[in-house]
Amino acid sequence: MDKFVLASGNKGKLKEFSEIFSQYGVEVLPQSQFNVEEVPETGTTFVENAIIKARHAAEVTGLAAIADDSGLEVDLLDGQPGIYSARYAGEDASSVDNYEKLLQALKENKKGRTARFQCILVYMRHAKDPTPIICQASWEGQIGFEVKGDNGHGYDPIFIPAEHQCTAAELSSEEKNRLSHRGKAMSLLIDAMQKQGILI
Ligand code: IMP
Repeated sequence: MDKFVLASGNKGKLKEFSEIFSQYGVEVLPQSQFNVEEVPETGTTFVENAIIKARHAAEVTGLAAIADDSGLEVDLLDGQPGIYSARYAGEDASSVDNYEKLLQALKENKKGRTARFQCILVYMRHAKDPTPIICQASWEGQIGFEVKGDNGHGYDPIFIPAEHQCTAAELSSEEKNRLSHRGKAMSLLIDAMQKQGILI
């Protein structure tokens, strides 16, 4: 069975990637299994950060690596929190701290609350791969005025997808996977890997 390393310590992501790739006879292993330490995300774009993570995991393990990077862009804030989404309210900030800070930043603004989640997925055949596969997808919506819903994570309770009148945290996980930046980027990655004969 082919093996890829996932450049993430997130158990939810490992489960999601493992389920999808097992359909193609590929085993996805967490980087923690190889004692790969988290690498500083020193890039200034989602693409750079995803490549930094994939390259590091491939270098340490000698396996092909997959990495993702995602976040929320708010138009009124020139794309912030962007690559800083997880630590918008500080290094150890919780999701609640982050979305409360965002609601505060948009407080006086009744219009122009458009935003989108972005997801980048990167596949690197090896650490020196000069042409990584890079897939990008987004999910358009608006930032709401109040916190609603218990499903999901991160900014979901304040993000109202363009397709719905409720927040992402009020959607079922099936509906979120169908619409979301991550679900769409994952489909693009699978397609690209099939076209290149990496997945059969
Ligand atoms: P990561 O790169 O997947 O770890 O995502 C970085 C940050 O972006 C997360 O900590 C969340 O704050 C935010 N984020 C990314 N995707 C989502 C989503 O689907 N819902 C809510 N927040 C998200």
